[in-house]
Amino acid sequence: MRMEFLRPATWAAALEAKAAMPGAAPIQGGTDMMVEINFDVHRPDALLDLNRVAELTRWTTEEDGRLRVGAGVPYTRLIDELGDRLPGLAQAARTVGSPQIRNRGTVGGNLGAASPAGDSHPPLLAGDAVIEVESAARGVRMIPAAEFYLGVKRSALRSDELIRAFWMSPASGPQYFSKVGTRNAMVIAVCSFAIALHPGERRVGTGIGSAAPTPRRAVAAEEFLAAELDWDARLDPEVLRRFGELASEAASPIDDVRGTAGYRGHAIGVMARRTLTWAWNEFRSGHPGRRAG
Ligand SMILES: Cc1cc2nc3c(=O)[nH]c(=O)nc-3n(C[C@H](O)[C@H](O)[C@H](O)COP(=O)(O)OP(=O)(O)OC[C@H]3O[C@@H](n4cnc5c(N)ncnc54)[C@H](O)[C@@H]3O)c2cc1C
Repeated sequence: MRMEFLRPATWAAALEAKAAMPGAAPIQGGTDMMVEINFDVHRPDALLDLNRVAELTRWTTEEDGRLRVGAGVPYTRLIDELGDRLPGLAQAARTVGSPQIRNRGTVGGNLGAASPAGDSHPPLLAGDAVIEVESAARGVRMIPAAEFYLGVKRSALRSDELIRAFWMSPASGPQYFSKVGTRNAMVIAVCSFAIALHPGERRVGTGIGSAAPTPRRAVAAEEFLAAELDWDARLDPEVLRRFGELASEAASPIDDVRGTAGYRGHAIGVMARRTLTWAWNEFRSGHPGRRAG
């Protein structure tokens, strides 16, 4: 079957093309899309190649201090160029696929696929990211990450919209990401957890991956820490234990080929306690990046 291949050179032309042909599937790195086409999972009427739209591969610091990262910035550049400012997301990016996949794959594509197992989602949630999407007809919409994921591989993106960028504040405190897989590399998460400390606001952000129909925050666990964490003291073991329990309760995992629901629920609790401990020790030691014991 014939498939059209559209190659707009500008963002405006890309939006026009998407409006004219909502069935056209955008393609950035192609690391998800080409697998789907090769295995006949999905055969779109047309491919909308975004690789000529240069602005998608740029990132900037905006007036309000937030970073605006183009949907087409590959993981390798995100790690190299923004690892110091977005450490949680960079940690997650380092676990994606292989060097080849990280050279091509993007956060924009991860968002476009909206898989519950996508590794960028938990740190985007923990760090209060906002997704910038646009359509020719309605212009820009800014969607908080917490409202972006609607179901398994389903997002708030409408059929005439494209993802342009994500916005995120540079880390104001320690951030960590943890992922359980069946091996150390080239593996889809069995489940994952991200944490971001916001010491200025006395608040902790979280993100759960691959343990519910969508990536999600552990809201009750965040609220518990906002109320109970004493930022001037050692981490109370009872607070740590309860945080792990609440994080685990926030998940609603299933049994599948990668793991059982019971294991996932347990692992989320362990990763929540572990990442909070790493982040807390770093915060208390005043040495960013150091995981004090
Ligand atoms: C061997 C292998 C290993 C992998 N390992 C991992 C892993 O460990 N962790 C992980 O999370 N993923 C993994 N992936 C999946 C994939 O690499 C990631 O999801 C990656 O982020 C996809 O980015 P991309 O730019 O290649 O997306 P593409 O394949 O180009 O697109 C993915 C989806 O997003 C849509 N899309 C792309 N750009 C836009 C846009 N601007 N606006 C709207 N929609 C858009 C596409 O239409 C498509 O539905 C792996 C894939 C392979 C082949």
